[in-house]
Amino acid sequence: MQITILGSGTNMHPRRAAAGYLIATDRPILLDFGPRTLPNLLKTGLDRHTIQHLIFTHYHADHFSDFITFFFDAVCHALYGGGSRGALHIYGPPGTKRLFGTLLDTIPVFSSAPFKVMLREVHRRPFHIGQTKIIPIPMTHTDSQVCLGYRFAYQGRTASFSGDAMASDNLIKICRGVDVAIMDCSFSSRSPGASHMHAEQCGKVASEAQVKKLVLSHFYPLADRSNVVKQAGKYFSGKIIKAKDLLHLQV
Ligand SMILES: [Zn+2]
Ligand SMILES: [Zn+2]
Repeated sequence: MQITILGSGTNMHPRRAAAGYLIATDRPILLDFGPRTLPNLLKTGLDRHTIQHLIFTHYHADHFSDFITFFFDAVCHALYGGGSRGALHIYGPPGTKRLFGTLLDTIPVFSSAPFKVMLREVHRRPFHIGQTKIIPIPMTHTDSQVCLGYRFAYQGRTASFSGDAMASDNLIKICRGVDVAIMDCSFSSRSPGASHMHAEQCGKVASEAQVKKLVLSHFYPLADRSNVVKQAGKYFSGKIIKAKDLLHLQV
């Protein structure tokens, strides 16, 4: 399994794209699609028209908004660009069908897509994309919507993605023993905030879940100005990486 970080920041970060990850197993899978992640996806060299599987953790704009540009481009490519593409499968928390149903019905050109768009709401039930097993579990984030964390397993290797999350038993569960855990580290431990973890909490979760490698991501600009790796390292003695855009991880 290979993971490329398309975005390690948040909505308005000056140097980082917002949330997005490209996971390559026996096919490419995109997890979240925040602002500025699409240009980073192009930089990976992957043909974007080969992407058939999009997974969303939740629908705050910093995890979602580049889908609009991606989908408009996909429809134009298939309609006018002489290209073709296979079906697009979109997976996400409850509300996925309503959100994409509305977008596809409302935005000009979207309803003309000459390829199938399959919408699937996942909650706790594991599903497969090719040979990759994916387990979704609700995280603790905000009260207004469900945010799902995901655990990926492929050819004996495992990775977990917290989405946006505070520390919880469910987060520890999806991270249990994984080769790589990518976590929401929105804040420095010196200036914690609501709805997300700070670095020390990420370290605690990684330690409790006994992950092999911790990747800190989803930084607000303030978190960038303190040593989050050192803070997480107070509680976790394994390898800790501070994510950056286009960082490539071989899992
Ligand atoms: Zn969020
Ligand atoms: Zn977020």
